[in-house]
Amino acid sequence: MRINTNYHQLSGRYLFAEIAQQVSAYKAAHPEAQLIRLGIGDVTQPLPPAAINAMHRAVDEYADTKTFHGYGPEQGYDFLINAIIAHDFVPRGIQLDRDEVFVSDGAKSDTGNIGDILAVDNIVGITDPVYPVYVDTNVMAGRTLRYIPCHADNDFTGDIPTQHLDIIYLCYPNNPTGAVITREKLAAWVEYALRHKAVILYDAAYEAFISDDSLPHSIYEIEGAKQCAIEFRSFSKTAGFTGVRCGYTVIPKTLKAEDGTSLNALWNRRQCSKFNGASYISQRGAEAIYSPKGQQEVRDIIGRYKANAAYIRQSLADMGLTVYGGQHSPYIWVSTPDGEDSWHFFRRLLNDANVVVTPGEGFGTHGEGYVRITAFGTADDSRAAVARIKKIL
Ligand code: PLP
Repeated sequence: MRINTNYHQLSGRYLFAEIAQQVSAYKAAHPEAQLIRLGIGDVTQPLPPAAINAMHRAVDEYADTKTFHGYGPEQGYDFLINAIIAHDFVPRGIQLDRDEVFVSDGAKSDTGNIGDILAVDNIVGITDPVYPVYVDTNVMAGRTLRYIPCHADNDFTGDIPTQHLDIIYLCYPNNPTGAVITREKLAAWVEYALRHKAVILYDAAYEAFISDDSLPHSIYEIEGAKQCAIEFRSFSKTAGFTGVRCGYTVIPKTLKAEDGTSLNALWNRRQCSKFNGASYISQRGAEAIYSPKGQQEVRDIIGRYKANAAYIRQSLADMGLTVYGGQHSPYIWVSTPDGEDSWHFFRRLLNDANVVVTPGEGFGTHGEGYVRITAFGTADDSRAAVARIKKIL
């Protein structure tokens, strides 16, 4: 037996595992320390009551042979797919067929697994800094990566490449920089992809944080995108489903590989062979967030995180730090003071302020010189963290 040696090419440890290890070591040495964790992008608010009630009802259905559910459709239940299309796409002028939406257990699996249907010799463009899953899963598959530098001068949206790429990962609002992409810039990426017969893998996990109507929520708002883009969505950050698990992926039937093969058909085949569907309970919970009550509750939850983001962003700017993001995103991307090394600043914040952030370098070489702070903590924690940071700067 031999292993997939591509795994040897992965960087030592998954970023958040490395941070967790450093935080545990600190905690073991200082058991009395009250850490504030604004590192990993996990939510803290309870689920919307509409989702909780729907999931309770769904659990009760399992108690009776007449309403019991076994395996569901691998692609997701129609009740959820219909709600997704009606609420997330139709109001933005996007028409989708039901079989263009694939419900899943979240965007991490889908953004990682999508490579199953794409050739190993495709050249992959990955924005840097980036959500590490895109890098790691392509390294595991043995693909060649080309990094697309994202920095303040290109508004963290990358310059349109002059060389050929086959696959391009884009994520807006962005993790980790909190940047958004304008309609014009996204149209330039779509134009590039159509010209190069490339596919854009568009991760819109944070779409619900956009509050400027001129910004695109979906790549399909851009003409031509249905011929060149796959879109990933998640209920994790929209509705607090990080532990419940539910998301979906859109693959238009008009998206074809160079040889004319439908990626929609291929993904359907892949899912039928390797995935047995997201849980009925999660899907009922997700459906409920589209009810009028659910929509209001979700808006309230996101409003809280956005208020934290605004507070953190403004307070750090008032301290003289250079800050990005945090307006249409739960992430604030902060330049380290005087160009301090990002892991060094991470450790200083951990040791001296007992605040956990994420060092930018962990997201790629162009993340050096920054740290990412999340607004997913409670309002009290966000305020306390800012006060502690102020003290040590
Ligand atoms: N995509 C991005 C950009 C993320 O930041 C995350 C989670 O942090 C995910 C996807 C994962 O989402 P899910 O919980 O749906 O797997």
